[in-house]
Amino acid sequence: MAKELFAIFGNPVSHSKSPLMHNLAFQGLDYDACYTRHLLKDGNTLKETFFTLGLKGINITVPHKEAAFHACDTLDPFAQKIGVVNTIVEREGKLYGYNTDAPGFLKAISEFKEVKTVLFLGAGGTAQSTSSILREEGYEVTLLNRSEERLEKYKKDGFQTFTYETFKPQPYDLVINMTSAGLEDENLPAPKEILDIVMPNAKACVDVIYGKETPFLKLAKTHKKPVKDGSDMLLYQGIIAFQYFTKHSYTFEEIKQHMQKAFTL
Ligand code: NDP
Repeated sequence: MAKELFAIFGNPVSHSKSPLMHNLAFQGLDYDACYTRHLLKDGNTLKETFFTLGLKGINITVPHKEAAFHACDTLDPFAQKIGVVNTIVEREGKLYGYNTDAPGFLKAISEFKEVKTVLFLGAGGTAQSTSSILREEGYEVTLLNRSEERLEKYKKDGFQTFTYETFKPQPYDLVINMTSAGLEDENLPAPKEILDIVMPNAKACVDVIYGKETPFLKLAKTHKKPVKDGSDMLLYQGIIAFQYFTKHSYTFEEIKQHMQKAFTL
């Protein structure tokens, strides 16, 4: 059998840890495959590019997760529901789409016990998939976003939504930064006055950004809260994608022992 080829598509894509993560797992598990990165400028060319490069599967990152959804021939029920795809596998010439960000995130926060209410700061694409899975699992998710526009969809879906101007704080078990504030700047994801009200009541504060201590996590520490960054979410979405890539030939733990080395190299 020819070596299977996998890739991550995104723009930008040079920073992505996915090639290292997946190649470590392929190597460690002695699976004959290779994973690379591809700068995809135009999401409309995703399907054509996939076949031109002779790929077996891909992960998709910003800003093409919706284009990936539209490129698939068959969708997993959860991906179908949320309209966002970050993993595609080719089978007999057809593209099958999945979302592994959401179950990866769910697993990442499962270490926090007795959590019922969650405050999401931000309402972008990542919030879309993760809010949906959290609600399916029985969490109550409230969204607080800088601007009104992105909240409309959530409001229609029955979530409680606020802008900074309309916010009526309640106690929340988890406060989660779902924005890109703090990724390449030193911004907080919401006004400090609001964070200073919600953080003291939280059991923990979580950031989906990984690889740095964001201003959000620094502030949470001043409130003496347990904190967690986005590394486990990234690792777990990768492990779940790897299971799709390899037809579930390996357990989560088998893959994890190899893939997690990407975070120490
Ligand atoms: P989107 O571009 O879809 O959404 C961005 C959100 O951030 C919007 O709600 C936007 O608000 C808000 N925002 C941006 N800047 C600020 C700011 N300065 N202050 C307040 N709000 C702000 O992004 P994604 O959902 O795709 O990504 C969000 C984060 O998730 C990124 O940091 C990304 O790196 C991270 N991520 C992590 C993953 C992991 O595996 N750990 C996986 C995927 C994403 P508005 O509507 O007002 O513009």
